[in-house]
Amino acid sequence: MPKKVLNCMGAVLISETVDIPSNVKTVLGRIGAACRRAGRRPAGVTLVAVSKGMGVSSIQVAYEAGVRHFGENRVQEAEGKITGLAGLTDITWHLVGHLQSNKLKAAMRLFHIIHSVDSTRLAEALSRQATAMAGREAFPVLLEVNVARESTKQGFDVEDVPGAVEAASRLRGVRIVGLMAIAPAVDDPEEVRPVFRKLRELRDALGLAELSMGMTEDFEAAIEEGATMVRIGRAIFGPRNS
Ligand SMILES: *Cc1c(COP(=O)(O)O)cnc(C)c1O
Repeated sequence: MPKKVLNCMGAVLISETVDIPSNVKTVLGRIGAACRRAGRRPAGVTLVAVSKGMGVSSIQVAYEAGVRHFGENRVQEAEGKITGLAGLTDITWHLVGHLQSNKLKAAMRLFHIIHSVDSTRLAEALSRQATAMAGREAFPVLLEVNVARESTKQGFDVEDVPGAVEAASRLRGVRIVGLMAIAPAVDDPEEVRPVFRKLRELRDALGLAELSMGMTEDFEAAIEEGATMVRIGRAIFGPRNS
């Protein structure tokens, strides 16, 4: 049965019913199977449900199905949802999209972790903002790496990452916990395995803990290559309308 739903802008849409709880179960099963293939513990992989384009009610359904980590890619879109769901105090909110400098303060107030630090300038600005918001622990961030050197993507070039991590590790108020990448869109996830492997080698060489990689089309290959956080939207919430 198609049903009426509200999208994030409050518009009424008619959509096919997406069974979010069943999708969550399926995704967790696939994460578990990928972990077994790689000889890893499922507890070492965090499912971040990317709820961009989705309304508060969809997030609530995923929460009730056990999801506790949610990702958004735009501060402005996320703000209403995060405030609306403030009662669910055990949600960890992940910012996974490009952060504009005029949104820094809001981002640090709303989110718990930022995956998408894509320039040294941004890391420095976050540090200044963190220092101004005195009294809180160092804010955890990941550096975004443009592994495949795509001109359409943000992020550090691979060879610039060690220097950027070194420089950022001296900043007060922020803590570099890992690396993030968005793999190129391809038909066969096997094609992006070298991208995941490269990011893992880089992470290992730098002694960082987290590896944020893998989305709906390629999360199993990412887990086999060492992902500690997978960012999954459509496999949980269904297709986006935008
Ligand atoms: C949208 C998005 C995702 C999730 O993408 P799906 O293909 O829907 O799983 C993951 N990471 C980032 C940075 C995104 O913007």
